Amino acid sequence: MESSGGGGGWRGSRLPGPPRMAGLLPRWVLAVFLALWAPRPGRGGLYQAGVDPVWVLEARTVRGALRGAPSAWLVQFYSSACGHCAAFAPTWRALAGDVRAWEPAIKIGVLDCGDEHNYETCKEYGIQYYPTFRYFRAFTQQFTTGENQHAGQDRELETFRQTMIDFLQNHSQEAKPPGCPPLEPMQPEKIPYFFQEKVPHYTAIIFENENSYVGREVILDLSQYENIAVKRVLDSNPAFLQKFNITSLPSSYLIYPNGSHGLIHVLKPLRSDFSSYLKSLPGVRRRLSSSPLPSPLRQTREKNVIFKELKDYDKSKLYMADLESGLHYMLRVELATHQTLEGDELKTFKNVVTLLAKLFPGRPSVMKLLETLHMWLVSLPLDRIPYNAVLDLLSNKMRISGLFLTSRVQWVGCQGSKPELRGYPCSFWKLFHALTVQAAVQPKALLNTGFEDNPQGVLRIMQRYIRDFFGCRACAQHFEEMARESMDSVKTSDGAVLWLWEKHNVVNARLAGDLSEDPAFPKVQWPTPDICPTCHQKINGLDAWDKVQVLQFLKDHYGMGNILYTYTQERADLDEKELQEDPGRDFQSQERRRSEDKIPDPEKFSDSRSRALGRLLAKDTPGPDRGKKALESKIEQDMKQAVSFLGIGFSNIDMSLCIVLYVASSFFLIIMYFFFRVRSKRWKVRYRRPSV
Ligand SMILES: Cc1cc2nc3c(=O)[nH]c(=O)nc-3n(C[C@H](O)[C@H](O)[C@H](O)COP(=O)(O)OP(=O)(O)OC[C@H]3O[C@@H](n4cnc5c(N)ncnc54)[C@H](O)[C@@H]3O)c2cc1C
Repeated sequence: MESSGGGGGWRGSRLPGPPRMAGLLPRWVLAVFLALWAPRPGRGGLYQAGVDPVWVLEARTVRGALRGAPSAWLVQFYSSACGHCAAFAPTWRALAGDVRAWEPAIKIGVLDCGDEHNYETCKEYGIQYYPTFRYFRAFTQQFTTGENQHAGQDRELETFRQTMIDFLQNHSQEAKPPGCPPLEPMQPEKIPYFFQEKVPHYTAIIFENENSYVGREVILDLSQYENIAVKRVLDSNPAFLQKFNITSLPSSYLIYPNGSHGLIHVLKPLRSDFSSYLKSLPGVRRRLSSSPLPSPLRQTREKNVIFKELKDYDKSKLYMADLESGLHYMLRVELATHQTLEGDELKTFKNVVTLLAKLFPGRPSVMKLLETLHMWLVSLPLDRIPYNAVLDLLSNKMRISGLFLTSRVQWVGCQGSKPELRGYPCSFWKLFHALTVQAAVQPKALLNTGFEDNPQGVLRIMQRYIRDFFGCRACAQHFEEMARESMDSVKTSDGAVLWLWEKHNVVNARLAGDLSEDPAFPKVQWPTPDICPTCHQKINGLDAWDKVQVLQFLKDHYGMGNILYTYTQERADLDEKELQEDPGRDFQSQERRRSEDKIPDPEKFSDSRSRALGRLLAKDTPGPDRGKKALESKIEQDMKQAVSFLGIGFSNIDMSLCIVLYVASSFFLIIMYFFFRVRSKRWKVRYRRPSV
């Protein structure tokens, strides 16, 4: 299943992981083993093993493939949800196809960080943005996160080929992949030997200047071919070149096995022309010992892709499952790629959490989690926080009751017809539309946060989040440009709602027909007339937006009254039960919002769970401030109970339990001591024989 020319490949003696057993196992065992171990099609990523000429790595295969590998690797860590990664996929496939012959020296791999099975692995490799390109040296025994492709380099095929060559040449002599032929130039003085010695194969000598990569590319292209050796020589001295009738560089001189020689005449002095000329020489053929490379592109990607069955959903509704899944991905995956937060990043993170805690239109358990996180960040004036501490809080390690955020993604309004489409970026848009709407309809929600008088507040925080954390770098760049151009013009919170709507439509227009577009959900100017007929009008016969109507529509669409709770994780049932037992207990924050917002009509909630939540939302409850205080004091109380989970991972409950157990066991030991003492005295008395 892998090429092994020149000692490289899975069958070599210094192979990573499982293939080392090649010589010891019967063939069928090995076949089964390799089938299980080998990189294989991801769960709907952008690349397919055996179809695309790339190695599709996964959490369970990546370490084994990279550790101690006899070849170097260039791995693209991408996210299937990132439009740019989708747009870049044809280039990556083309590159992998272009350098397939180089595999004994360097392999091309991909790992989908958008696949939740790979989240942890991508975190271990410190992947923060997509796509990220990393080089891994051959024969590396220790875990390494690899070496980045230099920033600022373009993503042209040629640039990648050249950096691959540079990387191969940077290997030390001992660690050089055995499948990598010598790439160093030959000394010109050695050329005469090739004419004197009769060798049974062709020798091609490529004359080129120092900056040229053609010679090395041709050497690698021919590295798996027999009956030919390719060398390169650097000398631009005209007298020297004249000896071989060379008038331009690069040029190639060919010495035949019978000793005759002459210049090669190709149409253009390009790598492809030289390589195909040399491969077509009589007797030059691919080495048989090489096992086949991953099979070439046999089908188009379209034919190969599995279209998913779509869940039932209503496009005029906002699904809590999308918002919560997005929140889960943002807090547990995207942010978690940053091991520690400090400086601007920490500031952005705190601001985002403040925004979420104050404006997220969430279920009580999620709100409680966000408020707890917010209070924790406010109460701990640290300059630097390890993100693991945040993850501990998110998974409720301190066991505060009623605090929960789904830990799986469940896209509904953001589902795609293929697994790699839509998802997180869609939920990200929805989340921030909802936040701008909440800021507009609840002007007091941001009181005492420092953002209360700033109509651009939500947008600025969104901009900074995108700049510091959003995985798709090109998206960040485009968003930054739009922000720079016009965000300053936003003067009211309604203006912020409309600004984001307008910019989202600019992105929709730019991406319409793009590779990242889901054919089942085409990019359109939104809202379409079917969901908002009044948003559209004709002015002088031309289509135009009625912005007053659009604003009202956005407030309704992204408002709490339009949220459906279908498909939210089971914990919803728990919340519902808990709240039915004690309806006032946790709903203060919902109520706070509702009392400032329009109260949704419970009958609007279509499914039973939604209706139940709607009923609860509609109940009379204390005023907003009392509700907020009640919730905050409850959280504070819980927080006090859970001190120092950050430090050593024990809460007060844990400590109290330890003390109780300690006292109980001491007490037990003392009782046992006295018990045996008394017993032993009795025995002594009973069995003592009177002395004679
Ligand atoms: C800030 C940002 C910048 C991005 N930039 C790029 C980029 O440069 N290149 C790229 O390939 N991808 C980019 N993306 C991703 C891209 O915009 C889409 O999110 C992704 O392709 C998924 O598309 P989708 O079909 O789910 O619809 P999305 O555009 O994600 O929209 C999600 C939902 O929002 C609603 N909606 C649509 N338009 C509007 C609107 N104008 N106002 C309010 N609600 C609306 C609809 O219900 C829609 O289903 C960006 C994403 C974000 C968050």
